[in-house]
Amino acid sequence: MSCFDTAPAQCVGRHSELITSARLDNLTSCFAATQVLATTPPSSTGLLMALFDHEEVGSVSATGAQSPLLPDLIAALCDARGIDQQAQFELLERSSVCSADMAHATHPNYPERHEPQHPIRLGGGPVVKVNVNQRYATDAASAAAFILACQDREIPVQTYSHRADLACGSTIGPISAAQLGCSTVDVGLAMLGMHSISETMATSDLELLISSLQGWAIQADPRG
Ligand SMILES: [Zn+2]
Repeated sequence: MSCFDTAPAQCVGRHSELITSARLDNLTSCFAATQVLATTPPSSTGLLMALFDHEEVGSVSATGAQSPLLPDLIAALCDARGIDQQAQFELLERSSVCSADMAHATHPNYPERHEPQHPIRLGGGPVVKVNVNQRYATDAASAAAFILACQDREIPVQTYSHRADLACGSTIGPISAAQLGCSTVDVGLAMLGMHSISETMATSDLELLISSLQGWAIQADPRG
C-alpha cells in the first residue's frame, strides 16, 4: 500500500520556518543542485549534475546510480572534446563528487536512537555524513573541502554519524565513488519523518544548502 498526503507541500509554523511535503527526501537536494547549476556561471566551474532514479531500492537499474550512465557520459563528453583516455584518468583524479541526500535530524521524542555526540537539528545548516563502513563516501579530505567552502560563506555545518550499533542507511555516494574513483563527500539537510507521507525540514536550510553546494563546486573545479 502506498499512502499519499492530499495536503499540498507548504510552509508551516508561526514564521513559516518549516516546510512539510512528501518526497523532501530527496527532491530537496535535486532542487538545490539544479539551482546551483542554473546560477553558477559556466566559466567558474566544470560542473556536472547527475540525478538518479531508484536510490531507495538499491540503485541497481538501467537508470540508477549503478548503471554505466555516469562513467559512460563522462567518457563521451571527454571524447567529444578530444580529451584522450590518459587525460580522462587525470581529470577524474582531480575531480570531486558531492553526493547530496537528506539526513535524519535528532528526533526530540527518540534521542536515544541517535549517536549522542552527533545531535543534528533542523535549521542548523548542511550536514556532512560520515561512516567508517563507507555507507557514506566522505573521507577526511572531502569533508574538509566541504566544511571550508561553508566556512568561506559563514554557513554553519553539522556532522552526522549514525548510532554505531544500528544498521546505517546509504546513498549513491559510495556507488559513484567506486565507479569513478573520485574523492566524494556525502552531505544533506536535516529532516524529520524521512520516508513518511509528510516529511519536515527547516525553510532556512534550503538557501544554506544551495549556497554551500555552489561554494563547494567553485572550489572543487578540477581545472583550477
Ligand atoms: Zn531516502
